[in-house]
Amino acid sequence: MQFRDLKQQYQMLKNDIDNAMIEVATNCNFINGQQVKDLEQELAEYVGVKHCVTCANGTDALTMAMMAWGIKAGDAVFVPDFTFFSSGEIVSHAGATPVFVDVNMDTFNISTESLELTVKQVVADGKLVPKAVVAVDLFGLPADFNAIRKIANKYGLLVLEDGAQGFGGNIDGKMACSFGDISTTSFFPAKPLGCYGDGGAVFTDDDNTAQLLESIRVHGKGKMKYDNVRIGLNSRLDTIQAAILSVKLKAFRDYELANINNAAVQYTAALAGIVKTPVIPEGFYSSWAQYTIQLANKETRDNLQAALKQQGIPSMVYYPKPMHLQEAFNESAVTIGMLDNTVKLCDTVLSLPMHPYLKDKDVEKVVGVIKKHL
Ligand SMILES: *Cc1c(COP(=O)(O)O)cnc(C)c1O
Repeated sequence: MQFRDLKQQYQMLKNDIDNAMIEVATNCNFINGQQVKDLEQELAEYVGVKHCVTCANGTDALTMAMMAWGIKAGDAVFVPDFTFFSSGEIVSHAGATPVFVDVNMDTFNISTESLELTVKQVVADGKLVPKAVVAVDLFGLPADFNAIRKIANKYGLLVLEDGAQGFGGNIDGKMACSFGDISTTSFFPAKPLGCYGDGGAVFTDDDNTAQLLESIRVHGKGKMKYDNVRIGLNSRLDTIQAAILSVKLKAFRDYELANINNAAVQYTAALAGIVKTPVIPEGFYSSWAQYTIQLANKETRDNLQAALKQQGIPSMVYYPKPMHLQEAFNESAVTIGMLDNTVKLCDTVLSLPMHPYLKDKDVEKVVGVIKKHL
């Protein structure tokens, strides 16, 4: 059994993907080909925002947001303690201070109560300027953007939606990657929508921001590539990746999202009452980057993982370490409030095999091993 079965996906889409790749090789339009522009339009329409600027990976997408907003030393950026390293790394990279915020035990996403308490504390301390919040759509579930937006408005924060895992999810029909002042995603192969290497995208409704992002993406270009008006990056999405993504986006919309939600329903029905299953709040729709259960304690979790492994079932611990305990942040980050939920989750979470091609019998096998073991 595969944790995320990309081989099977390729077999399903082989004809179209092969043709897409061959077309790029034949035309040799490897950089900035028409496929990149077409994909950006498709993605913007799907997400329901005005602008999509593709780039080299999901971390660059976040970095470009920091650059577009001019986030700098002395700024506080609020980041969930339970997420992939990138979400905070880009803040330190900009010279600003990541301030970690605890998450909700049900949704794994940033706790809006903790966020407001933490922001208040930073304001009271008066050392840093509260600038932005990075709201991560962890494991495919959009963060609670209605509540986040209220807090952001109250304290004058920009909202950066890190939708690296959230692409395809929605809240009451409004799509993930449309909630931030800037939103980003990643096309790393194992993400909900992945390419065949690294890739990413930035989304915004703001015309000026979009223009800035396009400039930042290519060495801070002005009127053209050899007119440089700011310090930028070289962070483009390859034409070949755009061509592959167009094919995969169609499958993603047509059936993959529905299939993966079907697999989640099956897992939850079979595991309810045995382990803590993921909670999807009313009106929310997840794209299931991960299906993550919670066990009673670390020992139970580690033993279950070993039992699954023995039966040939891969599982993963996302994430084993809170952001605030990462050595890399020793110098640059600030921890204010309680981060107890994150500390607990790092010991108790386990992500199970999950992808759109998971069969009923795969789910039954995983559930069978879990039931027998516990
Ligand atoms: C994967 C991921 C990223 C980074 O994306 P890359 O394309 O690997 O750079 C950022 N944030 C989160 C939450 C992620 O899961």
